[in-house]
Amino acid sequence: MSDSVARENQLPPFQNEPLTDFSNPQNRELMQQALDKVRGELGKEYLCYVGGEWVSGEGKLTSINPSRKTEVVGVVPQAGTDLANQAIRAAKAAFPTWSQVPVAERCGKLFEVYRIMRKRKYELCAWMIFESGKNWAEADADIAEGIDFVNYYCRQMLRLSHSPEMIDAPGEENRMTYIPLGVGVVIPPWNFPLAIMAGTAVAPVIAGNTVVLKPSENSPVVAIKFVEILEEAGLPAGVVNLITGEGPPLGRHLVQHPDVRFISFTGSMKVGCEINEEAARIREGQVWLKRVVAEMGGKNACVVAEDADLDEAAAATAQSAFGFAGQKCSAGSRAIVVADVYDQFVEKLVAASALLKVGPADDPQFNLGAVISPISFEKVKNYIEIGKSEGRMVLGEQAVPDDGFYVAPTIFADVSPDARIAQEEIFGPVIAVIKAKDYDDALRIANGTRFGLTGALFSRSQEKLDRAAREFHVGNLYFNRKCTGAIVAQQPFGGFNMSGTDCKAGGPDYMLQFLQGKSITTKKLG
Ligand code: NAD
Repeated sequence: MSDSVARENQLPPFQNEPLTDFSNPQNRELMQQALDKVRGELGKEYLCYVGGEWVSGEGKLTSINPSRKTEVVGVVPQAGTDLANQAIRAAKAAFPTWSQVPVAERCGKLFEVYRIMRKRKYELCAWMIFESGKNWAEADADIAEGIDFVNYYCRQMLRLSHSPEMIDAPGEENRMTYIPLGVGVVIPPWNFPLAIMAGTAVAPVIAGNTVVLKPSENSPVVAIKFVEILEEAGLPAGVVNLITGEGPPLGRHLVQHPDVRFISFTGSMKVGCEINEEAARIREGQVWLKRVVAEMGGKNACVVAEDADLDEAAAATAQSAFGFAGQKCSAGSRAIVVADVYDQFVEKLVAASALLKVGPADDPQFNLGAVISPISFEKVKNYIEIGKSEGRMVLGEQAVPDDGFYVAPTIFADVSPDARIAQEEIFGPVIAVIKAKDYDDALRIANGTRFGLTGALFSRSQEKLDRAAREFHVGNLYFNRKCTGAIVAQQPFGGFNMSGTDCKAGGPDYMLQFLQGKSITTKKLG
């Protein structure tokens, strides 16, 4: 946001939420206290939040700790279609009022959310550590991003509340205002259980829409904690309605509903494509085309040229591949290395990755936690079996604890660009290393998947970097650093092709997806 809008609204200039320094004993103590507090609250039962009331659903869903599979994090309702319809009715009823609340007033409520999130940062981290298997640093980055989203989107909406400059014809005055769309359905994934869930829920609300939020069945408790904050901040009833439950039946029902004006989805390519198709079908009583924001998967590549700093490239590739056990949409799951430095790079990548320790997320000595669920565990293990026939396992199957869904960092070398492990999103700690003949070949291989989310290039040559800027077809491109870790207002995030609709979350254009422009012309009367 321009400084002038900040000044006009008496706000300090936007600053990213700082990450917590856990080498500071005081911060470690605060984190430990939060973990102890939250540990004491595990296993509780929760309710859905519809029309400002906490209500039960038809069945129950248990959320477990992936690091210790016998530990119940919470029990939440399994909402059925009746409750889903009730949530849509509540959102529809709240829309006429909420959409007319002046932007500054709406933002006032959301800035209060921002303040409470900051105050409860450690506690929210602890919930993510237990429910999603995020280690301390990953959970801290997640909450920082969530805080940034709320703060940044409010400021963007304040900017958009002014008409862009229009040309006036003689005797006429023109302006354009951005108005909200209506009722939206927000369907986030579990892997950024706070940041993406909160960001995708609040952006449309700041724009004046009302929403039904259906969090992932793998991370419902974190979403409930966030909605408790919305309630504490005084968000009016019906503006955000939360219903929990298994994705397909509940999510599908919401997407199909004729009163829904837009869907904001983040998740896998398969589900995103289904939502896109379902949303395109006009239902009885529907008077609009549904707008779909669908941010989907990736098969992201770290490209290593012959003139790269190989130590840096190997360390950054290991971070890209194995941070949060490879469960980031931006994770580097292919390393594409030119032949001249291939053997050297593989050796360095294995050395950097072999140091990573796997264990429970609440214990800060471990670098990698468990994967999210038994389904995910089986899927990743299956890909590792496939990988054994598609490449040479140069790291993998190290001993890991067996009381959670742990998978050891796994590297397959000598993988063909067309192999399944080089084409399909695995979403676990597995990377395929591919040999390229030269830089041309490396770029061709990098672009040779259905996806186009993130990518990294390691090279000292400006010419190669310039060429990648033009030809490496990804929404988020990084030079000489890891391909994960986009930051709000620094790297607007979203991908090309089957990675989605390129929404550019955390960027200046994001809010426009939840708004429509209305042009108003006034003829001056004589
Ligand atoms: P998923 O597609 O399985 O589920 C995402 C959400 O969709 C969940 O809330 C789920 O309950 C719901 N859902 C499932 N089936 C549905 C259906 N038929 N109709 C409506 N909703 C349905 O994805 P996930 O496992 O939660 O998350 C991991 C995926 O998300 C990965 O593919 C990852 O790359 C992607 N992701 C993308 C981004 C991005 O910005 N591009 C960010 C994070 C994660």
